[in-house]
Amino acid sequence: MAITHNLGYPRIGAQRELKFAQEAYWRGDSSLEELERLGAELRAQHWQQQAALDFVPVGDFSFYDQVLDTSFLLGNLPERAQHFHGAELDNYFRIARGRSAQQVHAEHPCQCDIHAGEMTKWFDTNYHYIVPEFTATTEFSLHSERLLAQIAEAQAAGHRVKPTIIGPVTYLYLGKSKDGSDKLALLHKILPIYAQLLEQLAAAGIEWVQIDEPILVTELDEAWQQALRVAYQYFNPSPVKLLLATYFGRLEDNLHLLSQLPVAGVHMDAINARDEVTTLLTLLPQHSVLSVGVINGRNIWKTDLQAALTWLAPIAAQLGERLWLAPSCSLLHVPMDLAQEQHLDAEVRAWLAFAVQKLAELSILAQAIKHGSDSVAAELAANQRDLAARRASARVHQPRVAQAVNAITADMERRRSAYPVRLALQAASLSLPLYPTTTIGSFPQTTSIRALRKQYKTGELSAAAYEAAIQQEIALCIREQETLGLDVLVHGEAERNDMVEYFGEQLNGYVFSQYGWVQSYGSRCVKPPILFGDISRPNAMTVQWIRYAQSLTDKPVKGMLTGPVTLLNWSFVRDDQSRELTCYQLALAVRLEVLDLERADIQVIQIDEAALREGLPLRQSEWQHYLDWTVKSFCISANGVQDHTQIHTHMCYSEFNDIIAAIAAMDADVITIETSRSDMELLDVFDEFAYPNDIGPGVYDIHTPNIPSTEQIIHLMQQAATRIPAKRLWVNPDCGLKTRQWSEVLPALKNMVEAAASLRAEV
Ligand code: GLN
Ligand code: ZN
Repeated sequence: MAITHNLGYPRIGAQRELKFAQEAYWRGDSSLEELERLGAELRAQHWQQQAALDFVPVGDFSFYDQVLDTSFLLGNLPERAQHFHGAELDNYFRIARGRSAQQVHAEHPCQCDIHAGEMTKWFDTNYHYIVPEFTATTEFSLHSERLLAQIAEAQAAGHRVKPTIIGPVTYLYLGKSKDGSDKLALLHKILPIYAQLLEQLAAAGIEWVQIDEPILVTELDEAWQQALRVAYQYFNPSPVKLLLATYFGRLEDNLHLLSQLPVAGVHMDAINARDEVTTLLTLLPQHSVLSVGVINGRNIWKTDLQAALTWLAPIAAQLGERLWLAPSCSLLHVPMDLAQEQHLDAEVRAWLAFAVQKLAELSILAQAIKHGSDSVAAELAANQRDLAARRASARVHQPRVAQAVNAITADMERRRSAYPVRLALQAASLSLPLYPTTTIGSFPQTTSIRALRKQYKTGELSAAAYEAAIQQEIALCIREQETLGLDVLVHGEAERNDMVEYFGEQLNGYVFSQYGWVQSYGSRCVKPPILFGDISRPNAMTVQWIRYAQSLTDKPVKGMLTGPVTLLNWSFVRDDQSRELTCYQLALAVRLEVLDLERADIQVIQIDEAALREGLPLRQSEWQHYLDWTVKSFCISANGVQDHTQIHTHMCYSEFNDIIAAIAAMDADVITIETSRSDMELLDVFDEFAYPNDIGPGVYDIHTPNIPSTEQIIHLMQQAATRIPAKRLWVNPDCGLKTRQWSEVLPALKNMVEAAASLRAEV
């Protein structure tokens, strides 16, 4: 009774071994063989860590991205990558990273540069995949060597293997048609390839295959629903048993569809769609397996095992052998092992579970179902103790914070006067020229700055010495900006390691892990802070630095803050209250900081909301609610200021079609956005909406070292001025400059300032 399995495991390694191996290979410091060997070692370790499960997943390991792996598996390489003669993995990295083969690896010189595949977010996670490319003439062919070899590896190590693959309909859905042709027209070409793969898997001794169709949790039109029916009918009868997996949300309209697909089993997310599991139970055919994802694969909290068992008991009684247990989704989205953490706050640590601990929880649940709760009485009691401690902790629940949230009034969300009134007051006090120039906040985070911080954190450098050194950096940054002739200056963010961590470290309610890394894309990992309790701000967080910067110049210096929605979306957050409520708490903390900056005579304050758009729910029907509370949060944080204080916000992306009304409702005096790569076309949506406030469309891409010419910038601003009145326009880069070198930043900004001057002269 109760088979346990896992949908996928973190692949980067407990110490990010994969990242370092990838990067060493890309630099030319190690060989392909070494990289392959490390991959095999990690897989072996990871299967070993999952060995208590009835099935271990195979196919979840990847040298870059599992969607790109699928493109290779199906022989769907973009035309530009089809005639490569080197190693397959080199070609793979070329598509992933868009480098010439020479840069990929010095041993295989080839002058052909190709551009990278587009990258986009995997559903509502912070994982990014390489978008498959299709045209009307796309052909598929099976290249299963890698997958079969990994299956053989796992079998040889004695594991019971369940391969996991991305389903054909989700694969097509996630891809992009490059010629405007209908992707669904490719379905009849792709299905035989999958069928061939299933035959091969059967021949390899595989009993069950997990086939992921997470698009089932999104709103699908009839054509895509039909594609799912066609696909799974096509595989029926299948030479292997198919476990069709959905996760990340509710099925809603697709629930019936799912129940009718002729597969041997279904996996459902019982965290987000618990009630739907109960409905599905009444719909599933007699012999079907139902895998329930009872452990949250997206957060870092311990499961309430007793509650899970109570809920599972009748389901287990009904399903018997046909009940499978798993985390709700792949564990790719959580850190690997809590046991590695040496400095984590002991109280909070007792409430947490990373991937290894989540699988242990799964075993306890299975044990209880098989042999009765008494067989795991001690484990269950310990779990209950930890959860009770969390519920009762005075660090989690601070009555004053709850009171402050309850005391939020509509007045707190609104500026005192409407924009035109503020504009006049701000114009008088700031006296900025037409086309004012500014930057987004950060200046180069040099190795010497990072070394300083490291020394400070290890205690090598005293607080006073660190502060003096950072002040020097700020002074340098102000001097350079004055020399360049920028109009609104920034302090440069030298003191910040990261735009979320910096604030999280100073707020009550946050803790930080040492090794809690999660893959974001390729070799890039993020370590989200853990927001565990009510948020309060014991002290001002930025005022001393900004005030110091302002003391060095007569030009206005922008205070620089991360907004509540971004603090929320880039953290692991609480599961014991709504995201909305947590966001209001963050908003109140940021509001206090804004007011302190204003009291310190800072006239311009920027509140970055880089992550507002990416938090949009998967289902459009839920967007409005999300936008309502996120905009409200921003407004609470920003709008307590006097009319003469100028509020900026910044968003580093370029899709505003769906959220323009929300952006307008934020009512920031100035918004700076990423636009340089779209030739200003994305301003159309601001134009059509008649967006009233000031806009700073980014005039150059900060992701490349290229220096934009004055002419290019003038051209872009002229394009902008055809859509937005010139008097509403600011001139600035696309985003912060922290990843660039001073040698790139100075000439680029010089050209930018020159461009602004020449635009002014034309008027
Ligand atoms: N102020 C931040 C910076 O300049 C903004 C970063 C971002 O938008 N991602 O670095
Ligand atoms: Zn940005």
